[in-house]
Amino acid sequence: NPVTDWLASRARLTPTREAVVEVVTGLRLTYAELDRRVNRLATALQRLGAGQGDRIALLAPNAVCYLEMLFAAAKTGTVFVPLNHRFSVPELDYVLSDCSPHLLIVHDAFAEVGRALSSKVNIPNVLSFGEYAGLIEDGQPETYERVTGDMEDPWAIIYTGGTTGQSKGAVLSHRAITWNSVNTVVSWGLTEHDVTALYMPMFHTGGLNALTMPVLHAGGKVVIGGDFHPVQALRLMEDERCTIALFVPTMHHLMTESPEFAAMEFSTMHTFLSGGAPCPLGIYEKYWSKGLAFKEGYGMTEAGPNNFYIHPDDARQKIGSVGVPMFHNQVRLVDEEGQDVPTGSTGEIWIQGPHVFSGYWNKLEITAETLVDGWLRTGDLGRRDEEGFHYIVGRKKDMIISGGENVYPLEVEHVLAEHPGVSEVAVVGLPDPKWGERVTAVVVLAAGTELGGDELKAHCTAKLAGYKIPKQFHFVAELPKTSVGKIDKKQIEKGLTRSAG
Ligand code: ATP
Ligand code: MG
Repeated sequence: NPVTDWLASRARLTPTREAVVEVVTGLRLTYAELDRRVNRLATALQRLGAGQGDRIALLAPNAVCYLEMLFAAAKTGTVFVPLNHRFSVPELDYVLSDCSPHLLIVHDAFAEVGRALSSKVNIPNVLSFGEYAGLIEDGQPETYERVTGDMEDPWAIIYTGGTTGQSKGAVLSHRAITWNSVNTVVSWGLTEHDVTALYMPMFHTGGLNALTMPVLHAGGKVVIGGDFHPVQALRLMEDERCTIALFVPTMHHLMTESPEFAAMEFSTMHTFLSGGAPCPLGIYEKYWSKGLAFKEGYGMTEAGPNNFYIHPDDARQKIGSVGVPMFHNQVRLVDEEGQDVPTGSTGEIWIQGPHVFSGYWNKLEITAETLVDGWLRTGDLGRRDEEGFHYIVGRKKDMIISGGENVYPLEVEHVLAEHPGVSEVAVVGLPDPKWGERVTAVVVLAAGTELGGDELKAHCTAKLAGYKIPKQFHFVAELPKTSVGKIDKKQIEKGLTRSAG
């Protein structure tokens, strides 16, 4: 199946509708304008010798250039690699050596990092942001030659969150990105009237594929905010009359804690979404108490990211559920022997559908372990109720085995987070000579609260079996976060093991 130039299709269907707004610069582009800038970029890419299959990389803060690079890749058959700008120079060095791009665009904000990198990695073309802007300005030629590849060809390589180890390059084909978008538009009912506020990083699937591409597919508008600031994000959603927005739980936490939150109406918002990590139930309550629709999605770079749908009304009945599988998506819950588990039991989530990735770039072995007989083994655990609603139980790797019993940290975290004195919490397993692993809680207390481990233990006693109750509590000022804002358990475990040893 040949690749469709879907930005050009959109520009034909709704040329004068606003496609994207860049808040930091004030730039506003219609679909026709965006398409023409992309045509100029495509022309420049070919002039610079970027051919079919070549990688084109970008190091930039959230901005329209991400969309321009992505759509120019579709027109020229090149492969877009957005780089995680929160990575250190050695981490970026690894990514660039891994994907060996033909071209790298470096935004002024990262000029120094760019210089450090270009002396290490051999990239044929490194362009500054000024040079990039020159390529796409009015008057530049739009004479590129359209490369019509196959839907199976890679469109982007997105590096995973790096939560569990070294970030891996997930190869996303035209088929995968387009079908994630179709699945999302159809299942979530997006239309050209949708406006989303974008604060999730665009180098990550959460900023690029979760809502941005589906909203553009539907003909809606993407408003790109600057660096995340809770009050600015709240105001932007009101000012731009946003209808839907996705944030990681940490961002929701900061927004709902901010004093402005109470006074705001969000009269145009139909859905607040959380994704990327487990969401504490207290955050749901904050939105619900204002009569706002809030729900959680489960996603992963390698699968879309979007996989489930839940109606906001169901989200209030089935608390904590991510819902039912989306259109064109199969979900299995499987035990260690590869058998489907019974309703109500926990199993590994396996996913099959046209939105699933092609494999990890340069990583045949992990690809073969992850994609088996057409099924993506997510490494996450879930369960399903009698009505088919799914609940995420946590990562397989995070499961603690204490005294021979399985403890799912998320269950314990939810119970601890219910305590009014607890602001944030992470539960990890630390090596223990007696128990194998010792259930350990790391807690950030709510402002002005004084609490001890004994009180929290007592709080758990009524709700959790004894073996699940943390044996040890650590109180900290804040929890370390990964570059995409998820709680960094690797870092927490390292810190605790070091302080113990
Ligand atoms: P890496 O694969 O590099 O270790 P990562 O898994 O965090 O990093 P992403 O693709 O960004 O990379 O994140 C996907 C993961 O995030 C899922 O596999 C799952 O563990 C977690 N996740 C996403 N949504 C939810 C959710 N609603 N509840 C619980 N966990 C979630
Ligand atoms: Mg992962």
